[in-house]
Order: sequence, then structure tokens, then C-alpha cells
Amino acid sequence: MFYATVRQFALEAIAPAVRTMDEDQKFAPGLIDKLFDLGLMGIEIPEALGGAGGSFFDAVLAIQAIATVDPAVAVLVDVHNTLVVNAIRRWASEDQRVKWLTKLAAGTAGAYALSEAGSGSDAFALQARAEKSDGGYRLNGRKLWISNARESGLFLVFATLDPAAGYRGITALFVEKDTPGFTVGRKEDKLGIRASSTCELLFDNCEIPAANLLGEEGKGYKIAIETLNEGRIGIGAQMLGLAEGAWGHAAKYAQERRQFGKPIADFQAVQFALAEMATEIEAAKLMVYNAARLKDGGQPYVREAAMCKLFASQVAERVASQCVEIFGGNGFVRDYPAEKYYRDAKVGKIYEGTSNMQLMTIAKQVL
Ligand SMILES: Cc1cc2nc3c(=O)[nH]c(=O)nc-3n(C[C@H](O)[C@H](O)[C@H](O)COP(=O)(O)OP(=O)(O)OC[C@H]3O[C@@H](n4cnc5c(N)ncnc54)[C@H](O)[C@@H]3O)c2cc1C
Repeated sequence: MFYATVRQFALEAIAPAVRTMDEDQKFAPGLIDKLFDLGLMGIEIPEALGGAGGSFFDAVLAIQAIATVDPAVAVLVDVHNTLVVNAIRRWASEDQRVKWLTKLAAGTAGAYALSEAGSGSDAFALQARAEKSDGGYRLNGRKLWISNARESGLFLVFATLDPAAGYRGITALFVEKDTPGFTVGRKEDKLGIRASSTCELLFDNCEIPAANLLGEEGKGYKIAIETLNEGRIGIGAQMLGLAEGAWGHAAKYAQERRQFGKPIADFQAVQFALAEMATEIEAAKLMVYNAARLKDGGQPYVREAAMCKLFASQVAERVASQCVEIFGGNGFVRDYPAEKYYRDAKVGKIYEGTSNMQLMTIAKQVL
């Protein structure tokens, strides 16, 4: 029921704007407010703090359902719920939980700032510097590739308190949008998920109150590893939804488009392509749902999370590519939905750990 509700919302409120949002590289006015109104930005936030009091599995269903229509909107919901809210639920003090989760449920979007120009896969080689100051910390440096940057009011920023300490210097700090010295910089002009803002962040002597430390000093690496392990399942869900969306368009088109006097869906080659796609989607779905259930059940899930993200992103790319071909020439132009799914799929193999990083995690677990 929850999936069906979110999918219906996506079809009614998002689908009509998908093309314009992709071209304009921004979300339709009022769309984010609707996501908040529907409770999709506080899925796991307790009801007492204004959230929906749902499970991680609910978040996965919402991301999947939205991605069937627009993976760019899905990533906003994904980062906010599975990275930012998740980190706070897990690591924040009671005061911080009340303060930030209430805001994050009510209308403040969240961003997660780990990557830098020189540290992507090697995330813990980050250079952003936090130094102790009278009131807390002085933050300097730059972040790159930060999703939700234009829309967010709260940023979870990873910086080092002690570069000589390596990963043990990494510390997580909350930075509010209006902090003096903090600016959201250049927005990337992307291949896919173009409506989602991906920006550089600049910190110039930002004074961050001591109360904005998340967890302990030097334990930011642990927060990053653990939130990304979970977040990966969200990206698996995004890629799963993308594949389902592309499949739906391909199946409908194949039944409408006529060649040689009949719908192209009457040709066995087209049927087999759609059957292969459906089978791969089913496998990806079981892997994503299994990882989410393990997580909700308090069982080990790191291996399954990496596997589902790796596999779902491969399936998304294959299914979206096949969808373009089923649309023929129409698959290659912007008047039809196929090419956007194809462009949007590529990032699934890159963010929240490239496919090689997933393989490294899986290899470590299985060997
Ligand atoms: C649209 C978008 C949104 C993003 N949003 C966020 C965000 O919100 N927050 C955030 O912090 N980051 C974000 N990122 C950053 C993203 O997580 C990184 O781009 C990703 O981790 C890869 O890092 P990189 O780009 O530096 O690539 P690199 O690390 O330079 O990798 C380049 C290639 O080398 C390979 N490689 C690197 N090291 C190894 C190795 N040891 N073994 C084998 N192969 C290796 C990689 O697999 C890849 O194929 C986003 C990126 C994009 C594109």
C-alpha cells in the first residue's frame, strides 16, 4: 500500500514535470514541499518528532517508487533519509536528535558532504580541516559533488581535526546553510539526474559550535562507513526503480508501436528482451529487499548491501539501454522517456562507492 501510494504520487505530481526539470536542471517549484507534506522526508523519524515513524524498508520502497518516475527526485529523498537522517538517528545525542530530526521532518532538507576533489574512492584522504576554536571548531576547505546542496538547510560535513592521524582524525560536524563563511559553489552540469543539484561547498573560517559535533571527535570515519553501508541499499532501490520505470515504458511502447502490420511486442525477439529485463529486475528487487530486511532485522548486511547496489546498477544500465532500443529512433530523442533513464542509470555505478569499491567490499566479505 505504501509503495502504491508513493508511486501514485510520483505519477501525478512528478511525471508531468520530469522533462522540464531535466532541461532546467532544477526541481519544480513546490515539489520538495510536497515530499515533506507526504512524510517522505522523515520516513524513519519518530512520530513524536514529526516524522512518519517508518522502517528503513519503507524508505527503500519510497526511493524505488519515486525512481520509477524520476531518479533525480529519488536521490534527493535517498540522501536525506538514508544518509543524513540515518546518521543522526544512529550517532546524535538526545538534544541533537530532537533539534535536527524535528527540522529535517518539517521542511529542512539535508546533504551529506564527504567527497572532495582529491578524495573520492579514497574518501578518508580528505583535506577539509577543522581546528578547535573558543566556541567549538573552525572549519576550512572544500567539498565536491554534494547532492541536495542547493536545496539543503543542513549539511553533515566530514573534516579532519588532525591530518597526521589519518582516518582517525576525521570528524563529523553539522553545518547550517547560513553559517558565515559557508557558500554553496558551482553546480555541476551532469549527464543524468540533472534536476538534482550537485555542487561544490566552500568553507572559509566557519565557526561551528561545539554542539554541532556528531558523535565523537576522530570517529567521523566510522559514521561515514556505517551510513554509506546503509545508504548503498538506497541507491540499489533507486536503480531498481529506474529499471522498473524503463521496463514499464518499453512494454507499453512495444504493445503500441506497429511494424510489419502488428505490434512489435508480437515479435518473439522483443518479447524475449522484455522477459530478460523483467527477470533481471526481479533478481535486483529480491537483492535490494533482502538487504533492507537484514538491516531492519539487525542482522549483518554489509555484503548484501554492496551486492545489491553493484547488481541493481548493472541491471538499471542494461534495462535502460534495452529500453532505448525497443523505442527505436524514438528511444534516441528527448520527446520520449527512454533516453533519460539511460542517462540517469550511469551514476548508479559511481556514487556512494563505485562498482570497484563495491567489489572490494564484497571480496573482503567472501574471501
Ligand atoms: C551525481 C553525483 C552525486 C554525488 N553526491 C555526493 C554526495 O552527496 N556526497 C558526497 O560526499 N559525494 C557525492 N558524490 C561523489 C561520489 O561519491 C564520488 O564521485 C565517488 O565516490 C567516486 O569518486 P571519484 O569521483 O573521485 O572517482 P575516483 O575515486 O577517482 O575513481 C575513478 C575510477 O578509479 C577506480 N578506482 C579508484 N580507486 C580504485 C581502487 N583502489 N581499485 C580499483 N579501482 C579504483 C574507480 O572505481 C573509478 O572507476 C557524488 C557524485 C556524483 C557523480
